[in-house]
Amino acid sequence: MDDCIFCKIINGEISSTKVYEDENFLVIKDINPVAPVHDLVLYKRHIRNLNELTNEHEDFSKIFEVIKKVAELEKISNGYRVVVNNGEEAGQEINHIHFHVIGGRKLGKIA
Ligand code: AMP
Ligand code: ZN
Repeated sequence: MDDCIFCKIINGEISSTKVYEDENFLVIKDINPVAPVHDLVLYKRHIRNLNELTNEHEDFSKIFEVIKKVAELEKISNGYRVVVNNGEEAGQEINHIHFHVIGGRKLGKIA
């Protein structure tokens, strides 16, 4: 989608630090990390958030395998947090569906 920063990262127009990639997802380092490990799992197809998921996106469910793999690559399988800011009220800033994978330190309670 034009004007979407994550679409531009996925198609290589904007640079990023890649952690993992397969046919459905690109995983990159968050530019403003809140913990020693803070990765973003970007779905390669542009949809705004979970509210726009339909039966057409059955490949999206593979995100859970990707998250497990990322945790292994980042050596945080003993404990990590998966965050989805879904919609404006939840603080979603970039309207391209993505999951945060956060770890590498003891994490506090969720706000
Ligand atoms: P949110 O939409 O609130 O779930 O979070 C968007 C996340 O994208 C924030 O944690 C930002 O730090 C991160 N971010 C914004 N621009 C970039 C970028 N160019 N590369 C990597 N991460 C980014
Ligand atoms: Zn996009």
